[in-house]
Amino acid sequence: MRKINLIVLHCSATREDREYTPEQLERDHRARGFISAGYNYYVRRTGSLLYMRPLEQIPAHVKGFNRNSIGICYEGGLDSRGQPKDTRTPEQKETILALLHMLLIRFPGCRICGHRDLMSLKACPCFNAAEEYAHLPS
Ligand SMILES: [Zn+2]
Repeated sequence: MRKINLIVLHCSATREDREYTPEQLERDHRARGFISAGYNYYVRRTGSLLYMRPLEQIPAHVKGFNRNSIGICYEGGLDSRGQPKDTRTPEQKETILALLHMLLIRFPGCRICGHRDLMSLKACPCFNAAEEYAHLPS
């Protein structure tokens, strides 16, 4: 297993009234030249969790930080007009929290943050992940 010390949250930049399936995600990322979906995990609006890229493999989700990180993406992140918005459903919040707890047990000491905390020009994931998850035991 590679060394992992960072967990990064993303949104899929999907409008809240649209659907973005894991198949679409996989296809879009392959079209960008990735070997598979760039994120390790994808969380649907229903709260269902998809394991997209094995943790052993380096994800492709944030330039300069891929090697030591895990990428988690939730479906959503835009309002119906395409503006950034925290569209997480209660089910998504629950799944993400449970996933983070699990990952912190397996990879203690990880820093948790949002994509935007590493790249100042992005809104992703449209909520303050570092603050929201600061209470989690690391
Ligand atoms: Zn992102």
